[in-house]
Amino acid sequence: MRDFTLDIYRELLETLQAKGYRLISFAEYLKGQRDNVQDTKYVILRHDVDLKAANSLKTAQIEHAIGAKASYYFRIVPESNQPEIIRSIVVLGHEIGYHYEDMSLCNGDIDKAYEHFKTWLDYFRRYYAVETVCMHGAPTSKWDSKDLWKKYDYKTLGIIGEPYMDTDFSDVFYLTDTGRCWDGYKVSVRDKIPGYQEEWTAKSLTWHTTQELIAAVEQGSMPAHVMITTHPQRWTNDTAAWYKEWLLQSAKNIVKRIIVKQQ
Ligand SMILES: [Zn+2]
Repeated sequence: MRDFTLDIYRELLETLQAKGYRLISFAEYLKGQRDNVQDTKYVILRHDVDLKAANSLKTAQIEHAIGAKASYYFRIVPESNQPEIIRSIVVLGHEIGYHYEDMSLCNGDIDKAYEHFKTWLDYFRRYYAVETVCMHGAPTSKWDSKDLWKKYDYKTLGIIGEPYMDTDFSDVFYLTDTGRCWDGYKVSVRDKIPGYQEEWTAKSLTWHTTQELIAAVEQGSMPAHVMITTHPQRWTNDTAAWYKEWLLQSAKNIVKRIIVKQQ
């Protein structure tokens, strides 16, 4: 069975639901924390729409069909920022946020980057009352866009949280499909949680394929609180697009391994 298809994505979500997990957006998680709601089991569904925005509508439809809510973070680049797709995902009841990379785009000029951030936050707020934003961890950029928050505070802009900064990772286990597998933190430059990853690895909370993830959920070895990040561009049922993505990612992982080794 091929991995990273929409069919297997749906199977993963349905297995989680069958095992009693609520599938929630990042804003719902933050509000639950704030209101001190003790949920037994939940998965925060986060999508970083880096490219191929149309694919994200497909995952959004699957989630909507099974009563799940997710957070979709859009970049300003045309491959991601597609108004029709954003509007359609809003209609399906999901959360929309800004996938920001202003420090990279403004070449590390923090004041310019903050103005740029505000402009584009306002832009995305034309479609949705954006409450959360999430860094785009461009692996080839020397700038970390989270550095913006060393000087400025997004909370003054009505933003209630940023996944890398406001998730309690001592309580929430993190999974990402970066590298087109579930243990790609080994080759990821920025999409990883320093400090906790070692702890999770020691507890054997590492899986490579989606099939393995599903089996872990079925066996009850998945933690009760999880954030799952996916990049919808990787998930497709279309055979030609699937092979193209597979080849591209295999090449990218080689380059990323070299970057990580050099750090
Ligand atoms: Zn991204």
